Amino acid sequence: PIDPADFEARPWVADSGWPFSADTLAPYFDRAHEVCQVDSPSYELDEVASLVPQLYQPPFVGDDVRAVMWTHSPPTKFGSVYRSELEDAQNTTVHLGATVINLDGTDPKHVPSVTVRTDRTTYVVKANTFILTLGGLETPRLLLTSTDAVGSGYGNQNDVVGRYFMEHPHLLCGTVRVDQSGQSRSIVATLDKGLGGIRARMALQRPAGDVKFALALSPELQRKHRLLNGSVHYTVVHHARTESSAIKSLRLVVGNLRSPVRMFRQVRDGAIPGGLGTHVRNILRGVPEVTKVLVNNVLRKPRGIGIFAQAEQSPNPESRVLIDADSVDRYGVPTLVLDWRLRDQDRDSIRKTQELVSEHLVSAGVGPIEPADWLSSDGWGPDLGGGHHHMGTARMGVDPATSVVDANCRIHGSENVYVGDSSVLPTSGFANPGLTTVAVAIRLAHHLMSL
Ligand SMILES: Cc1cc2nc3c(=O)[nH]c(=O)nc-3n(C[C@H](O)[C@H](O)[C@H](O)COP(=O)(O)OP(=O)(O)OC[C@H]3O[C@@H](n4cnc5c(N)ncnc54)[C@H](O)[C@@H]3O)c2cc1C
Repeated sequence: PIDPADFEARPWVADSGWPFSADTLAPYFDRAHEVCQVDSPSYELDEVASLVPQLYQPPFVGDDVRAVMWTHSPPTKFGSVYRSELEDAQNTTVHLGATVINLDGTDPKHVPSVTVRTDRTTYVVKANTFILTLGGLETPRLLLTSTDAVGSGYGNQNDVVGRYFMEHPHLLCGTVRVDQSGQSRSIVATLDKGLGGIRARMALQRPAGDVKFALALSPELQRKHRLLNGSVHYTVVHHARTESSAIKSLRLVVGNLRSPVRMFRQVRDGAIPGGLGTHVRNILRGVPEVTKVLVNNVLRKPRGIGIFAQAEQSPNPESRVLIDADSVDRYGVPTLVLDWRLRDQDRDSIRKTQELVSEHLVSAGVGPIEPADWLSSDGWGPDLGGGHHHMGTARMGVDPATSVVDANCRIHGSENVYVGDSSVLPTSGFANPGLTTVAVAIRLAHHLMSL
């Protein structure tokens, strides 16, 4: 789940703050764990340390830096796990292969029906209440393309739908060479798929899940340095990661080789930065280094610990989902364009967080740490990516000028349309959004049942 502090309005983070505190959502996490088939959730290192004391005694954790742990569901395939329950339910009809293409009606306050398309037919579904759970990209798309009641899109009177798109920026921040530190070796033993990792998984009774740790700053330290929330993971890498041009080119070419169609298109469209020839030349020039990396990868010999960030992105109205009026899908609905924008604040916050965490690691004898090149530049690292976490595009809030739904997930100005997916999260913390989204959806269900 996201941290309690993530719910608070932080003066140094524009548009931060949920319309309620963590306590309001807390009661729904038990049920959310059940729904996601997590029997014994534990997110703090202490709980793991008591189970596997010989493995988890990192001396670098103090008041300022805390160790957090990811808990994975089996994973839950909702379609198969809940299929029979849905089939048996007398009050539920599931339409499979059915795509909602429009919120109907000309009254901004009330949607009487939605239009649904399948490959064979088009039909209308009428209801008193509609809950949109299409995800952080498709929910804003449906709202923006449903223009019968409001020309700019349903619920978009204030031009907020689709804005504030947030991801969790992920990227490499540095590398610790294993052979330089005994402490580093024990972390490798713990995390790798060797005996340590197996014992930890068995002790945690999570054979199918990963045991994944991260270090994060306390809310007090975030406040002191005016930082966004963020986590720093340490993951075994099988070669000392460098960012030489040979390795960068190798990564780009190998990444593309996994999808020859994509490679073909990129070459055809001239979309490979510098052109394919440059990258092939870089690889040929760096043959000794490239060979070393390939051999280490093949032999799976741990060579280092990669320090990776998974961080909060600040809510940013310029980061958004837009509609491309010139392009439509097979049902004639305009497609979306994602304009994901990160700010300097996002980058500076990751930089400072990893610096503070690294200080702790080094003082505990882990290291030295080789910082990634991008940390001393004005840019981002070449491996910057997201986590398929699409949030914020129909955000929850009190003020319709900066939010799309109210504290009960109802679209501002609408009497009967709600949103119950990850697009309502107004801030993201650094945690993966699945569990929090399920808790929000369960709270919405309770609210609707109480009406
Ligand atoms: C590869 C991958 C790994 C991930 N790993 C994790 C993880 O470990 N932990 C975690 O917390 N999160 C993880 N996530 C993110 C997580 O899956 C999402 O945050 C979460 O599923 C969002 O839930 P949602 O209900 O908002 O949207 P979704 O789960 O995307 O559900 C939206 C549903 O609506 C349907 N839909 C869309 N448009 C229409 C339409 N017009 N009509 C009818 N139906 C429609 C879609 O088919 C889909 O079934 C991962 C995501 C990916 C892709």
